[in-house]
Amino acid sequence: MTDLHRLSIRELSEGLAGAKFSSRELTEHYLKRIAKLDTQVKSYVTVTAEQALVQADAADAAIKAGTATALTGVPIAHKDIFCTQGIKTTAGSKMLDNFISPYDATVVAKGKAAGLVTLGKVNMDEFAMGSTSENSFYGATANPWNLGHVPGGSSGGSAAAVAADLAPFATGTDTGGSIRQPASFCGLTGLKPSYGRVSRFGMIAYASSLDQGGPMARSAEDCAYLMNVIAGHDAKDSTSIEKDVDDYVANLNGTSVKGLRIGIPKQYFNVAGLDADVKARVEESLKKLEDMGATLVEIDLNMTEAYVPTYYLIAPAEASSNLSRYDGVRYGYRAENPVDLMDLYKRSRSEGFGAEVQRRILIGTYALSAGYYDAYYVKAQKVRRLIQQDFLKAFESVDVIAAPAAPTTAYKIGANLSPVEMYLGDIYTIAVNLAGLPAINAPVGFDKDNLPVGLQLIGNYWSESQLLSVVHQYQQATDWHTKRAAIAEENA
Ligand code: GLN
Repeated sequence: MTDLHRLSIRELSEGLAGAKFSSRELTEHYLKRIAKLDTQVKSYVTVTAEQALVQADAADAAIKAGTATALTGVPIAHKDIFCTQGIKTTAGSKMLDNFISPYDATVVAKGKAAGLVTLGKVNMDEFAMGSTSENSFYGATANPWNLGHVPGGSSGGSAAAVAADLAPFATGTDTGGSIRQPASFCGLTGLKPSYGRVSRFGMIAYASSLDQGGPMARSAEDCAYLMNVIAGHDAKDSTSIEKDVDDYVANLNGTSVKGLRIGIPKQYFNVAGLDADVKARVEESLKKLEDMGATLVEIDLNMTEAYVPTYYLIAPAEASSNLSRYDGVRYGYRAENPVDLMDLYKRSRSEGFGAEVQRRILIGTYALSAGYYDAYYVKAQKVRRLIQQDFLKAFESVDVIAAPAAPTTAYKIGANLSPVEMYLGDIYTIAVNLAGLPAINAPVGFDKDNLPVGLQLIGNYWSESQLLSVVHQYQQATDWHTKRAAIAEENA
């Protein structure tokens, strides 16, 4: 078969189980595509071809022996922020260019246990700080829809790999939008689970109270398959919740759009910088949901203006603390010929971290410093609580909240926005992380330059199933999620 890359996860699962093709055939097909097309997309930092084929053969044996799970033999790409035993994990940083983890992240281990085949590790903004994937030590990744544009970030490699059909699905992480915004820029479905739903063990920390891993794929159905593998309590992550996990695949039709109350925050659709095409596509998608039986309810989210300043104090504060461990002593980059210990610390960190990471460490250290702690960090924590309460109040009268995922479509590579301009682009995603809520992006059309636009739906705590189900039904009634970038149509 030459079009294995066109099959959905369910079709892959059924095809493997029914011996229509083997995992080796499927894996070789994807590896061939990566070898031919990723020279243009540049989504992979590391391709693990040899290990993938060993895993594929083991998967084929398991399928024959009758011990396979639904995903045994299906390939996946992991964001290079998830630790992989024996395989380099860089977090997009020179600091970790030589880092080989002695253990697997729980998400990776669960994938292996489910029989997933790892194709490789994909590119990202350094330590997940950014919105374009240009902040990677390994260079920019291209948006498959237009190679002159960014795929978004920080999980830009995950999004680009899936949108170019160089992986059937991928893992991503979302601290302030890094699953939803690249999914939006690349025309994909991506789910940021509630904080605590997916284990953070072995996921390199950016801002620990905000970080959450999740699936990036072509449809809600594909995301549901991956959620079934990665969701759940983990004793190795004390912030993961001990709460039953839904069967996300079985529940895909569990929530009816009929009667669904969708909140439309007034403040969100008046944001300066909201692109007219993005606004129009999002409104069209809401009209469609209305036609399917949903009720649109105008709501207030009065804290909207506080999102960017609050996030850009708390996230850098936590980052400055988390990144203090990279000191050139135990692991990671070490400066050559230090004259003393202070010189070793200073130069290892100055040479090992890129500009944006250093900027965040400076902001965060300042916000946490003795003289400014109350004025900045403590204040931001108080505002964070108000932002959460704003959402909880809204959920008293609506089931989900609709928003764009980003105010614009994908930027040009090298657009060189100022840091503040870049941060303002996160307006629609970061509050969800501050509140710890789940949210999903779904593709809902294109702008005048044929770049994808995304609709974001925000749910109440632990409503992942409901979000996947609503998007699944939208995707049964529309075909935006089936559109492919030209490069994805190319055969290897
Ligand atoms: N763009 C945001 C930031 O730079 C979000 C990144 C993320 O979710 N990892 O912090």
